Amino acid sequence: MTQLPLRAQLASALGRSAATLSRMTGRGDGSVIGGRVGLMLEPDLLRKLARDRKLALVSATNGKTTTTRLITSALLEMGEVATNVFGANMPAGHVSALSQHKDAPYGVLEVDEKYLPEVLDTTGAGVVCLMNLSRDQMDRAAEIWLLAQKWRRALSGKPTHVIANCDDPLVTWGASTAAKVTWVAGGQRWKEDSWCCPECGGPLDRKDADWACRECTFHRPEPQWVLDDDAVIDPRGQRWLLDIQLPGLANRSNAVMALAVAEAFDLPVERALPRLREVTSVAGRYTTVEREGRQARLLLAKNPAGWLEAFDVADPRLPIILSVNAQGPDGRDTSWLWDVDYRILRGRPVFVTGERRLDLALRLDVADVPFAVCETFAEALAMQPPGRVDVIANYTAFQQIRSEFGRAV
Ligand SMILES: [Zn+2]
Repeated sequence: MTQLPLRAQLASALGRSAATLSRMTGRGDGSVIGGRVGLMLEPDLLRKLARDRKLALVSATNGKTTTTRLITSALLEMGEVATNVFGANMPAGHVSALSQHKDAPYGVLEVDEKYLPEVLDTTGAGVVCLMNLSRDQMDRAAEIWLLAQKWRRALSGKPTHVIANCDDPLVTWGASTAAKVTWVAGGQRWKEDSWCCPECGGPLDRKDADWACRECTFHRPEPQWVLDDDAVIDPRGQRWLLDIQLPGLANRSNAVMALAVAEAFDLPVERALPRLREVTSVAGRYTTVEREGRQARLLLAKNPAGWLEAFDVADPRLPIILSVNAQGPDGRDTSWLWDVDYRILRGRPVFVTGERRLDLALRLDVADVPFAVCETFAEALAMQPPGRVDVIANYTAFQQIRSEFGRAV
């Protein structure tokens, strides 16, 4: 790699010191504060750190942390990879990730959907991976449509190679101004935000996986990669078993996206796939915490689409604990819980906890799902018979359980 200019070197080094200081004083992992310090001293730092590297940006409403991790694991097959492992997915986090791996020839950056245009402009990333767009808590359809429109503008006229999920009409529309697109049929479980054509507002007709606008020419592009239950069919028609360790259909979809991105970096499936199998848990998701003979597997659900993915992973034979908070990162308003169909939980022992347990309790009551309300997660866990239990929690509820019950087994 070419040397960074002196000012950028200094900004990058000071940013790293600030990050270390932040970690030492117990103020978190320091990746954001370090990046902020660096950017303050050298506003052009991200551009300079990104230069001469092969970068992939990963964006979506759900699954971006996991997919970033899967792509990183794959590219490690070829050399060092810089990545924002803590999900710090705005420019300060990207600066921090790239300065911590100054000599890494590759970078895989998780990017907040709203920041994608800015980060793409700044870094000039060669590859962009786009998976799904749906409402996050209180967003409404118009907001995510505007987001997709910003992606279109940002991608237009750039040489970027986009890997996009063509089963999501809004992602397809957002990606379709790019000069080069590899389409992946990665599936779409949550369809409530894509009944209308993003191009003309007409109704979208769906038949099996296919979709097309009834009123204009917008339609599902022909995919090069296809997720087919527990396997993937590559662009040459070869079928590969997706025997990864992360559970559920959503993660198999993330894995197909990762394989398509790896191929965009000239890494073939036979070398990338074994690397995907090495990923067992991402930022505590799918890990199990244990207390007094109860093993609780932690699933994160931050928005309606996330709940459906968690239901897919949860074992229908097991009891389930649901925990909902409404602090800053969760969104203060829990009315989005009403968008989720909870009837799938009928017949299982259901326990409800978290700060907003009563909001969730009312929602379950209306859906005719019997449940027990518990003051704390510890109480809910103590009510279980010894053995396994699934837990679905939203963001801060998830973090609380992780920090209180600590060590994963
Ligand atoms: Zn249309």
